[in-house]
Amino acid sequence: MKTLIKNKLPKVRLSSDMRGYENMLDMIREKSLNTVCQEADCPNIFNCFSKGTLTFMILGDICTRNCSYCNVKTGSPLPLDENEPKKIAGVIKELALDYVVITCVTRDDLKDGGASVFAETVREIKNRNPECKVELLISDLNGNENALKVVIGANPAVIGHNIEVARELFPQMRPHGDYERSIDLLKNLKKYDPDIITKSGIMVGLGETQEEIIRTIKDIKNTDCDIITIGQYLAPSAKHALVKKFYSMEGFSFFKKLGESLGFKCVESGSLVRSSFNASQSYEKIRRKICAVS
Ligand code: SF4
Repeated sequence: MKTLIKNKLPKVRLSSDMRGYENMLDMIREKSLNTVCQEADCPNIFNCFSKGTLTFMILGDICTRNCSYCNVKTGSPLPLDENEPKKIAGVIKELALDYVVITCVTRDDLKDGGASVFAETVREIKNRNPECKVELLISDLNGNENALKVVIGANPAVIGHNIEVARELFPQMRPHGDYERSIDLLKNLKKYDPDIITKSGIMVGLGETQEEIIRTIKDIKNTDCDIITIGQYLAPSAKHALVKKFYSMEGFSFFKKLGESLGFKCVESGSLVRSSFNASQSYEKIRRKICAVS
């Protein structure tokens, strides 16, 4: 099957508010901040930015791992920007955001994987923007449970960690990742804070079988995870992993129904779904469900 290269697909322009999009780009550039929206070349960027939705990427823009589907640069990271948490809090204030997602590059070179920076970023955001809800999408922190407790201690609204691909694809796609370590992290989130809302995501179309996807979704549910996102993998370039299958709307609808029947409180499933897709709406949906039963 031919490689499907994301850059050759038209970007989704659901909103005509290009000014909002450009303002967002200017502000990020001016403050020397990074977003995964840009680094991962997300197909939703025009729509999200023009609506004031973005996902900051902290700890720099160079990842210490080299997953074969990912567009983020890999190599030796530069020193941390000590002002990053304050700068992010300031941009959130300027944009008057009431919900924000913060993710990171994986930093295996840092003893705590960047957990203390995550915690500081949450604190700075809350100090300057008490109404803003913060969702974190963290790396596996190399399995460091003390580092995980530091992140949980900052008390964000949601903590997510993406499994990304089926177990069988880890050696090829995530050579420095570990399926069990990622599953354990999701379990530990609930172990250390049963009230925290947890989230995970997978991509499909990298060569996994339908059974492997189903097993992965079930493994994630067995961690008591609340939210799952399921999206179509699109190759960032010809150098990245090939798209092996393009799922239909019916295929994503099947995964959504499966997730709901397994008991996830929220399932986002669709070709353009990414882990931060509709993040604030997913959070609100769960809050309403929690309020209804308490
Ligand atoms: S879906 Fe997420 S990563 Fe993509 S543009 Fe929107 S906020 Fe950014």
